[in-house]
Amino acid sequence: MTLPWLDARTYLEGRWGAPVGRVGVDAGFSCPNRGPDRNSPGCTFCSDAGNRAPYLAPGAGLVDQIRQAKAFLGERYGSRLFSLYFQSYSSTWAPVEKLRQIYEAGLAEGPFVDLTVGTRPDCVPEEVADLLAGYRTPERDVWVELGLQTSRDETLLRVGRGHNFDAFQQAARRLRERDLPFTTHVLFGLPGEGKVDFLETVRRAVAEGTSGIKFHDLLLVPGTRLYQEWAQGRILPVGPWEYLEAVAAALGELRPHVVLWSVCSDPENRRSPLRAPGTKWPKNLFLSRLAKEVALRQGRAADVFLP
Ligand code: SF4
Repeated sequence: MTLPWLDARTYLEGRWGAPVGRVGVDAGFSCPNRGPDRNSPGCTFCSDAGNRAPYLAPGAGLVDQIRQAKAFLGERYGSRLFSLYFQSYSSTWAPVEKLRQIYEAGLAEGPFVDLTVGTRPDCVPEEVADLLAGYRTPERDVWVELGLQTSRDETLLRVGRGHNFDAFQQAARRLRERDLPFTTHVLFGLPGEGKVDFLETVRRAVAEGTSGIKFHDLLLVPGTRLYQEWAQGRILPVGPWEYLEAVAAALGELRPHVVLWSVCSDPENRRSPLRAPGTKWPKNLFLSRLAKEVALRQGRAADVFLP
């Protein structure tokens, strides 16, 4: 299937000449919301796993995680090139010397064609941006992922993010000043928000110079405060057609060079009541319907994109 947007696989193959396997790790960071021991309540939608990918084994050491992931990616997908992705919680939330130790322990398991670090907008001070910029070489890119979720301060307050849009603008400026590309995470379906707010967030992220985007539909994970709100009938889950329509419109806001790293959330608890058959689509189905919708909006033959 040819996709009418710049997807991650196409971008990485174009950049490095071969597919790149992404080695996602949980290096033990927490975040300002969850506190040093990860026990504070955090954002209303954050699960105990800090939105860690389901394939990440909790408790395994950094080096073991990397070795296991590389072996798995090599065996399953034939990956020969790898990206090192500090994914869980806020992977810049530590003193700079500690960050240096952790990043360098990970990079020593390379080579990696990129180092990607996921974090919150308020966790990228000048010295961290400097540290990250220092890892860029001709053979290795450095990307930062910023969890913005929404640009609406009222919503950020309501879901307990603990930062505002200005923090994102400050982080974006520091990264731009060092020519570090960044990806912005945007959530659709936050309480009190609709498509208009989602599109506004995407526009503002693009205006701030985002080089990548990750779209997520809001997951209601059991155990989160947001899940309780749903159980009490205070909010509604996002339907797949509604989400697809919003993403199709948002793609129209991106510039051609912006990499679409993700369009579907990866729920860690697939047995949640909101994961029941019919409430979400398999990823391939979502992508083919999205491609069709985008083609229709662009006035092209829709069926060329269908499998
Ligand atoms: S900033 Fe991220 S890790 Fe921290 S509470 Fe919010 S969603 Fe969870």
